[in-house]
Amino acid sequence: SGRIVLKDLVKEFQGRDGATRAVDGINLETEPGEFVTLLGPSGCGKTTTLRMVAGFETPTSGDILLDGADMTRLTPDKRPMSMVFQSYALFPHLSVRDNVAYGLKLQKMTKAAIDEAVDSALTSMDLVKLANRAPNQLSGGQQQRVALARAMVMRPKVLLFDEPLSNLDAKLRVQMRTEIRNLQQKLGITALYVTHDQDEAMSLSDRIVVMNKGRIEQIGTPDEIYRRPATVFVADFIGSANFLDPAGVTVLGDRARVDVLGSQRELNAAAGAAAASSHVVLVRPESVHLRRSSVDAPEGELVTGSRGRVLRAVFYGSVVEYEIDTDAGTIIAVVSDPDPDGILAEDELVEVDFPRDRGW
Ligand code: ADP
Ligand code: MG
Repeated sequence: SGRIVLKDLVKEFQGRDGATRAVDGINLETEPGEFVTLLGPSGCGKTTTLRMVAGFETPTSGDILLDGADMTRLTPDKRPMSMVFQSYALFPHLSVRDNVAYGLKLQKMTKAAIDEAVDSALTSMDLVKLANRAPNQLSGGQQQRVALARAMVMRPKVLLFDEPLSNLDAKLRVQMRTEIRNLQQKLGITALYVTHDQDEAMSLSDRIVVMNKGRIEQIGTPDEIYRRPATVFVADFIGSANFLDPAGVTVLGDRARVDVLGSQRELNAAAGAAAASSHVVLVRPESVHLRRSSVDAPEGELVTGSRGRVLRAVFYGSVVEYEIDTDAGTIIAVVSDPDPDGILAEDELVEVDFPRDRGW
């Protein structure tokens, strides 16, 4: 169980200068136990979508189903879902233990049953030693663990997360990602997760929903989103991207038909109507091949592009990132595991080759 269905979900906010369509027709179906992430830039409607699923916002129109049951008009406490907030939202006057027990106490369970459930949640989140502390005596990561324990102790069918890691420092953020993923898999609970951080989305998710301006641009596995972006927006938002026009001049509209060195792909219909007629080639920086002119082009799998000049070379240790000036515009190339003698200098002339069938 834990199958969420969102049907034509719309949310408009009324403001002084008219209505804002924060969410503009979202359709989504999760598998039970799936980890699905809403990813997109700030203001694209992620939080509003999640808050409608949780029941904190009422949709302007559309439906929210969980395992076939209509949730659309239920109050949050009637939905078998728990939400973890960016701000943790712990009760400051309650101990860790009482924070975790809070929701169960409202359900009028026996004290013994509550104690057992709380002990188990504290143990699995490694919080036993901190059980009697107040939230302000905890680090950010510990507070986040309490928030997770408080969510899972309710045995929800769905866990909802709104940017739960964005207040943590970079190292802890990566560590907590793994904890959240492990916990979710162990419990087999469906997760709907919101973030604007593409690395977080890529590393956590079974599927990613890329949103832009209240709409879905693409739904797919991290691999599909990266290698087969349905729109220019997705290609640009996920990872870094070189857009080339086959003729050597880049013209980018909001939408375009994507053409990977000969093999054309139509846009995802969900991406909307006005597909531009311009063809765009997308090549990921790690797919760009650079060679000195004295070296012959390898046979077969590469399309020989054009001659370029190194504008900038940045050595990162495991990779070198180059900015290359070419007829097709400035191209970013990332070369991994560089041979120390092979590192190109600024102003050096190079041949730029593109993969024939592994464009993105
Ligand atoms: P995200 O979480 O992707 O950053 P939000 O869902 O918070 O985006 O917001 C989407 C849009 O809706 C934004 O333009 C935001 O200003 C607007 N919005 C969100 N909540 C409200 C509200 N309570 N009243 C009016 N406008 C809102
Ligand atoms: Mg938000």
